[in-house]
Amino acid sequence: MIKRLKTFIIPTFLIIVSILTFQKTACAHTNQVYSKKSCNKIAYITIDDGPSKHTDELLNILNKYNVKATFFMIDRNMRLYPQQVRNIIDCGHSAGLHSVSHDINKLYEEDTSAKEEFDANNKTFHEITGKDTKLVRLPYGSKPYMPEKSYETLVEANYKIWDWTIDTQDWKVTSDKIIDNIKVNSKNKENIVILMHEKKQTVQALEAVLKYLIDEGYEFLPIRQDEAPRNYWVVG
Ligand SMILES: [Zn+2]
Repeated sequence: MIKRLKTFIIPTFLIIVSILTFQKTACAHTNQVYSKKSCNKIAYITIDDGPSKHTDELLNILNKYNVKATFFMIDRNMRLYPQQVRNIIDCGHSAGLHSVSHDINKLYEEDTSAKEEFDANNKTFHEITGKDTKLVRLPYGSKPYMPEKSYETLVEANYKIWDWTIDTQDWKVTSDKIIDNIKVNSKNKENIVILMHEKKQTVQALEAVLKYLIDEGYEFLPIRQDEAPRNYWVVG
């Protein structure tokens, strides 16, 4: 009986404990700060379409470099990965909304459809975390697809719409190409909003991306709720 305890029950118990511990403490091991901060260079890492099976890996890499990012999450994925939504918050990242349908035909069917989707998206986020968020990333960006009426309805409801300045194209290219895209498109830019997605190749590229941007002197910031939004409507 004792032998059986040693050979089967104890290892099984330890495996279960380690799985549970990993899930809940994806950011538990705090790390040194690698940043070579220079005055004005700021990078916002934004990650769309999750949470997913890749979220905890992304969090581990971000945490290794003490980088705070912003995750824009789809309603059904929050329901599928509620622990990962909590992990994102517990690790100090910002959370935003990325719609229910992820379908521009549904999102802009009526003037109020987008607002209704983000209200529902936020309700799910609130049920999981007890918090609210007004940060929004429109699927495929706020231009050219979003009609003016939809934009006005969202702004009146106090939603903060964020687009990006660098599209890594990570959903369709290799990890090497993701890094190249960032190197080329960040040249001589002081304040960048980087668009990424929860993809395998993004996980593979992320560490090299962070190292590169740190070497270039960028400071990383999560998007704050009270920050003036940056989108294609605001900048023209
Ligand atoms: Zn998306």
